[in-house]
Amino acid sequence: MLSSMWKVYMNGIGAGVFLIFFAARLDLWRHRPERIANLWLATAAFSALIVNFTGILLRTADAGGHPIVAMFNLIGVAGVVVSLLELVFSLAETAPPRLIRGLEFLLLLLAVLRISEIAVMIIVVVLLLVTLFKAIKSASQGDADARVLLWGLAVLMICLVSDIAHELELVSVPYYSPVLGFIVFFLLATHVVNRHMAKEESAARTDPLTGLLNRRGFLELSRLVVSIAERSAGSFSILMIDLDHFKRVNDKFGHAIGDRVLQEIATILLRGVREQDILARWGGEEVIILLPDTGVNGAKALGEKIRASVEKLETCHGEARICVTLSLGISQYHRGEPLTDTIQRADNALYQAKSSGRNRVEYLAFTDDATGTGDLIE
Ligand code: GH3
Ligand code: MG
Ligand code: MG
Repeated sequence: MLSSMWKVYMNGIGAGVFLIFFAARLDLWRHRPERIANLWLATAAFSALIVNFTGILLRTADAGGHPIVAMFNLIGVAGVVVSLLELVFSLAETAPPRLIRGLEFLLLLLAVLRISEIAVMIIVVVLLLVTLFKAIKSASQGDADARVLLWGLAVLMICLVSDIAHELELVSVPYYSPVLGFIVFFLLATHVVNRHMAKEESAARTDPLTGLLNRRGFLELSRLVVSIAERSAGSFSILMIDLDHFKRVNDKFGHAIGDRVLQEIATILLRGVREQDILARWGGEEVIILLPDTGVNGAKALGEKIRASVEKLETCHGEARICVTLSLGISQYHRGEPLTDTIQRADNALYQAKSSGRNRVEYLAFTDDATGTGDLIE
């Protein structure tokens, strides 16, 4: 009896903790609905909350046998099982097979209708095994996050199974075992989901071939530089870079070699810029660099340094040596203009560099004309 009362208290504490997990994850999911793992973590916490809350009621004498309480308890169990499975699949970025989805639906239906507790338990075991199998598969493919999640699942399942064995008087485990299992699982799963989201965020801003920022990442980071320059009357420069006759490299050596050249050039560019410079792949073989607090002379010096170092680069392809050159266009931010105008001026300067023979750096100054093309200054 004493142990049973402690279990009631523990269920109460667990319900409070799960409510916090649920509210936090639901809030995150409401703000970014595409981050579906947050939803499954929220539903898992909510289901655990139901299991704990109904657990308290089931242990008190009056409400203990009430069918509604028992039904919600079963729904809570089904909710936990479905949420865990969906969470593991969503982190692996796949959907469960149709048959498994069908079993999930059947489980929830049987739990609501309380048709056959035996059938419910069989489906619960099958779905938990599928969840474990999927987590083991992801972990064995070298996914470090899946390994952490697997530990969480293992702790949770050991705690739950040992508690059932305790109820059946097969073994003796502490009364707080299930709640502890859930807390350990939620802490580890929260860590995994957060890391997964951070990785997704960074992938959305990164170009997969070169590892540089992509256009979206560039525009997001440069917004801050523009607003600082706007307020502090400072300035910055833009360098627009395009590989010369790159189509010929692809045509002669193939796309894969072309990709390698692009990667090597990205490495050279990364080495050449300062930490605060914003370097991004702007298009196919075009790269953009924003140089904060840098005037025309600084930008020209860097442009020339980059041009010269790429000119020296040789990519080996069997016997052949591939040499490429760059053309560069420079512009300087004029206070009050939109960033797109500064970029357009750098692009126009690049065009001038191409038409004056390639493998060179050109600068285009701001002019107040309506075209915004500026005057070319050699
Ligand atoms: P220009 O000197 O006038 O810039 O000549 P170009 O051949 O570099 O210019 P063009 O715009 O005609 O062709 C660009 C080429 O860049 C065409 C395309 O095959 C290549 N390219 C773009 N993106 C990639 C990429 O991701 N990998 C590879 N290998 N090639 C790419
Ligand atoms: Mg080109
Ligand atoms: Mg181009």
